[in-house]
Amino acid sequence: MKKTDQEWRVQLTPEQYRVAREKGTERAFTGEYWDCHEPGVYRCVCCGAELFASEHKFDSGSGWPSFWRPLEPANVATENDNSHFMRRTEALCRQCGAHLGHVFDDGPAPTGLRYCINSASLKLERKK
Ligand code: FE
Repeated sequence: MKKTDQEWRVQLTPEQYRVAREKGTERAFTGEYWDCHEPGVYRCVCCGAELFASEHKFDSGSGWPSFWRPLEPANVATENDNSHFMRRTEALCRQCGAHLGHVFDDGPAPTGLRYCINSASLKLERKK
C-alpha cells in the first residue's frame, strides 16, 4: 500500500503520524492500550492489517502494549535498527511500512519475545 505523505497526514492524528510514519515513540504509560485488557484484534492504524491479538498481550511493565507474538507473523516485518546508538530490531507493518515499535528477546514463554508496540500505531477492534 502506497499513500502520499499528504494522505497519511490527513488520515492520521499528528501523534499517529509522528510514530507510525516517522518512526517516533510515544511516551511510556501515555498510550491508549498499554493498560488495555479488552479482548479483540489490534489492527494497523494506517492500513487496517491484522497485527496483534489480545490473547498474546501481556503486562510487561514497560508502559507500552506488549505482545509475545504477532497474530499473523507474515503481517509483521522486522528490520535491524541501529539508530540512537543501540542495536535493536524494529517491527513494521508488512503491508504499509508503518513503524510499530521494537522486538526484544526478554519476553515470556513460549517465544521469549517481547513486541514492544506503540499504541499510536494500533487500532483495537473489540470483540463483540
Ligand atoms: Fe499497515
